[in-house]
Amino acid sequence: MTARPSYAFIGLGHLGGHLAASLARAGFALTVFDRDPAAVERLVAAGAVAAASPAEAARIAGNAITCLPSPAVSEAVLAGPDGVLDGQPAGGTWIEMSTNGRDEMIRLAAFAKARGAHVLECPVTGGVHLAASGRITALVGGDADLLAIHRPAIEAMSANVFHMGPVGSAAVIKVITNMLAFIHLVAAGEAMMLASRSGIDLAQAYHAIVASSGNSFVHETESQLVLNGSYDIGFTMDLALKDLGFAMAMGRETTTPLDLAGRVAAIFEKGKAAYGGDAWSTMIVKLLEDQTGTQLRAPGFPDRLEV
Ligand code: NAD
Repeated sequence: MTARPSYAFIGLGHLGGHLAASLARAGFALTVFDRDPAAVERLVAAGAVAAASPAEAARIAGNAITCLPSPAVSEAVLAGPDGVLDGQPAGGTWIEMSTNGRDEMIRLAAFAKARGAHVLECPVTGGVHLAASGRITALVGGDADLLAIHRPAIEAMSANVFHMGPVGSAAVIKVITNMLAFIHLVAAGEAMMLASRSGIDLAQAYHAIVASSGNSFVHETESQLVLNGSYDIGFTMDLALKDLGFAMAMGRETTTPLDLAGRVAAIFEKGKAAYGGDAWSTMIVKLLEDQTGTQLRAPGFPDRLEV
């Protein structure tokens, strides 16, 4: 019987912390690193072993997973001094779970492959509440044989696994689905504002839209956090702008007009200017609230999405 793979997990933030905890819960041997000691502590409490660097984590585990805030950070953690590739034994797999553009993903994969590592990309979608319960959707790019080896770990973190094709293909669909999500978020905010300013009960408006043709996953989930007033989706303005940047670059590369996405990216630039890059992306709806002097609040909605 082949031994169960063990993993290093680097990047234990809003998303990565939950993904790593799912692996620990499923009994995978896990070695973790993050530059934030509190994030490491949470995983050690869940049964993981702490490493002093990405290199040490990869040396101990053999395979390494990253979930980091930008391609520049992924590159430093992968290929920089004391990075994953400095410690990973030949033949180990690097699994990138951060959201990257296709070009960035292919470029990073080439660094890893040149140093003898196998590569899978596995961006995920659905939000931190689904990650917390191991029910997020995983989009995978890379060889089918390699996916077969790591499927048990990916399934421990997710409810759906879509093999999209070679490395880079999962990045394409991940960027596209996020582009849709940000468009839907702005649209849901405008819809709720129109309902409020037309004198409709907001809780009823929320439920009626959920049961109607105008519904979206984003309305079902994020509108609840707007109505509560917490906006706490666990995903920041900066991350939204990163992903919209990837979408706009893909549009230019493929000469695909993205009028709506371009408009939404400009609205997110305004949101960052107003509330900061660390603000929750859901606060994009607050722009409209501040502009109109109308708060979208209703009783009975949670401050965080149910896990
Ligand atoms: P985050 O900012 O909450 O977490 C990033 C983590 O990386 C932090 O714990 C930080 O301390 C750590 N880190 C940063 N630089 C580091 C370094 N040099 N060495 C070691 N650790 C370092 O971000 P997140 O929300 O967890 O998102 C991570 C990635 O996942 C992003 O690419 C994001 O686009 C993607 N993503 C996030 C969500 C979500 O809902 N939050 C959903 C899908 C995809």
